[in-house]
Amino acid sequence: MLLISRKNDYFPSYHLDMQRFLFGREFRAEELPFPDKVVKEHVKNGYVAVRPGIESLNDNIFDLLSGRKKWLCARCGNRDQEAFATCACSHCRKKCVYCRHCLTMGIVRSCTNLVTWIGPEPESWTCSTHNDVQLCTWDGRLSDDQNAAAAALDQALTARESFLIWAVTGAGKTEIMYQAIEHQLKKGKHVVLATPRTDVVRELLPRMRAAFPSVPISGLYAGSDDVRADAPLVLSTAHQLIRYSKCFDCVFIDEVDAFPFHFDPMLEFAVRKAAKPGAPFAYLSATPPAALRSAYLSGSLSGVKLSRRYHGHPLPVPRFHWIGGWLRAIQKGQLPVPLRVWLTEKMEQKRQVFVFVPSVTLSRDLTEILQREAFDRTVGVHAEDPHRHTKVADFRNGKINILVTTTILERGVTVPGVEVCVVGADDPVFDECALVQISGRVGRSAEYPAGDLVFFHNGKTLAMVRALGQIKQMNKEGAL
Ligand SMILES: [Zn+2]
Ligand SMILES: [Zn+2]
Repeated sequence: MLLISRKNDYFPSYHLDMQRFLFGREFRAEELPFPDKVVKEHVKNGYVAVRPGIESLNDNIFDLLSGRKKWLCARCGNRDQEAFATCACSHCRKKCVYCRHCLTMGIVRSCTNLVTWIGPEPESWTCSTHNDVQLCTWDGRLSDDQNAAAAALDQALTARESFLIWAVTGAGKTEIMYQAIEHQLKKGKHVVLATPRTDVVRELLPRMRAAFPSVPISGLYAGSDDVRADAPLVLSTAHQLIRYSKCFDCVFIDEVDAFPFHFDPMLEFAVRKAAKPGAPFAYLSATPPAALRSAYLSGSLSGVKLSRRYHGHPLPVPRFHWIGGWLRAIQKGQLPVPLRVWLTEKMEQKRQVFVFVPSVTLSRDLTEILQREAFDRTVGVHAEDPHRHTKVADFRNGKINILVTTTILERGVTVPGVEVCVVGADDPVFDECALVQISGRVGRSAEYPAGDLVFFHNGKTLAMVRALGQIKQMNKEGAL
């Protein structure tokens, strides 16, 4: 008898846990910490939806006739047939297709079921009942330009319209978002700020926590242990959003140009999937991609342009300096003379510098040369460097003078008074957008609004010339 009554009880006792666990997210069935029968009961009662992880794309008659099968991964949106493989499945004991594209987040096979919550929203953390409480305690002052942008952004998102903030590097984009974020949170909305890179999440997280001390904020990036599924404000890399589904009422995309959307459609898919249908997007960028730029210029996307930094000073303008056969010199273990002259001068002036190089190998080689040549306190970083975050922190604290880096630090890392050179600015990895971002590292603080910025090159490229033109144009507009 007891057993029978238990059987009828399990549903309510698991129900709330399940709602909290699943809401706004998507899991493989085997990842759920609930008994199968509970899940089935929820499916039967319309709270939970289940769909296959791998779908067949054979909707075209030619594929059907040829017998060739085409697949789509429902979790990551992968349609690249090269990124599917087959295995003898240990789960269903058949031959199963699986997606290689999102394999690092746990295998999705043909026999995998993806599970989402489709029932009512949980009673989430919300401030709508005490609307007069200030959530944002940031007490800095916005410039008039920033204020106007903040109000326009807030208004657009309230009207459920997408918006572009086209702002020069160092315009203070983060502070411009505060008003709109606070407003959305007060209405009980779920807000996500998606950024392209781990470094950006790590840089923004403490600032957001300081600005919104009473709001639970989750920071998601590869290796973060800070996963609070029900946090009303989430800062995340695009990759980590793959685990979400129809969760957010409002999406901020910081540095939208840096999303390699055209190289990796999965990231765009992940961000779109994480948003609720019809959720407005706020795009923030110094160098918006062509599609957004033309949508804004033609009036189909509303937005504002900020051509001035928050401290009112113009953007530092890069100098071009010919450096000749720098690559061979470094490969032979020598320090190119113009670089030596520049670095010696900077060290005498007690400046901290970023030295940007085109590749990981060059970052290693040049760091070694500099250390050997007694440029003290020099370190190199690149994307796979396990000590990268410590090194960046040491640089911030002034323990390091010279940071040799690949383009991973082109954005997000702000250090007052830093000066910058790009070695091999003519290399194709330094496109117009990257060069503008790199230039934006200089002169960001009000105490040090200027600074030296050199592109060492062995022949001017179109990207260099365009980046220079863009910076000068912004300065011209900002001076008006
Ligand atoms: Zn996939
Ligand atoms: Zn299987």
